[in-house]
Amino acid sequence: MVREQVLRNTTFTIIKDPVTRRYFRVPAAAWRIARRFDSKTPVETVALELSSGGDPVTPDDVLDVATRFERLALLDTGLSPAQVRRAQAAASGERRSVFYLKRPLFDPDRVLARMLALVRPLFTWPAMLALAVLVLFAVILHATYPGEAAGAVASALHGSGIAWLYAVTAVTLTVHEFAHGLTCKRFGGEVHEMGVMLLYFMPCAYTDISDAYLVPRKRDRILITLAGSVADLALWALATAVLYFASPGGTGEQVLGALMLTTGFRTVAFNLNPLIRLDGYFVLVDLLEMPNLRVRSRAVLARRVARWAGRPPGPAIENARDGRVLEIYGWLSLAYVVVLLLVTAVLTGRWLAGFLESG
Ligand SMILES: [Zn+2]
Repeated sequence: MVREQVLRNTTFTIIKDPVTRRYFRVPAAAWRIARRFDSKTPVETVALELSSGGDPVTPDDVLDVATRFERLALLDTGLSPAQVRRAQAAASGERRSVFYLKRPLFDPDRVLARMLALVRPLFTWPAMLALAVLVLFAVILHATYPGEAAGAVASALHGSGIAWLYAVTAVTLTVHEFAHGLTCKRFGGEVHEMGVMLLYFMPCAYTDISDAYLVPRKRDRILITLAGSVADLALWALATAVLYFASPGGTGEQVLGALMLTTGFRTVAFNLNPLIRLDGYFVLVDLLEMPNLRVRSRAVLARRVARWAGRPPGPAIENARDGRVLEIYGWLSLAYVVVLLLVTAVLTGRWLAGFLESG
């Protein structure tokens, strides 16, 4: 499967490996060469043929592209699917990290197709306008009577509220992931993997929406990434309205408090925050048109540290403007992760101390 994409005036081709369902962004010129490969034709002949059709291509160009594609296991050289998967993971620099463990659970594609038929009216301007009005209304309620929401959230954080908080978290995370999946299907992608992952030791659900790469319009790709947070906001606004108009006590209040906490707070503090690899990060990547932002920013920081240490930093890979953006992003995200880990350590320490005292 193949799509074209223009990033900063260069045309790229996005290709999907049918076996591993992985995506590769290759310059369109390289793809033009790669399409002509077969095991029989010599590189000189391929170069000649391609040159006659437009831009000149040398046998060295052909060899270069062949080597790159072979390293990514994109040529049909009789490798098993498992070997291809390993080769591609190695080439993309993926490692198993304790901060980022993933477990696929099921293939939701057919369930999503059936659900989409039911919720299609939600993907219209009137529905979005209604949601915007509801959210605005909820914001006004919060601003006018802040005590009510604070009371509900506090009730969700104490005693039996904690059990409800866990249950509600599971439900809202599932709704969030389905919103991504449905929007991806809405814009023509396929969704073949949903599961759970451990992100900085927090369990979360995830949906593999990498088909979003094949969605040609940047706006649609950003909408797929934002869909989860839009669903969160809708739940948050509904919970707010019910809390203010029905004012339930007891369990009702605990559930609503948990809903507001896991949709409103979680979305703003974590999910839309571009400094961690959640939805906000992928929106930023699309807006800046800077794929692999995280890895590239780490490389820029490594060069900076090498220079401080008096070691030769090696040749610069990024241009000056990108280098500045990447360095700012790199320091901010590093600082954020350090603060997050420190806060977690302090909270865990306190909890342990309390646990030992009481025991
Ligand atoms: Zn999300």
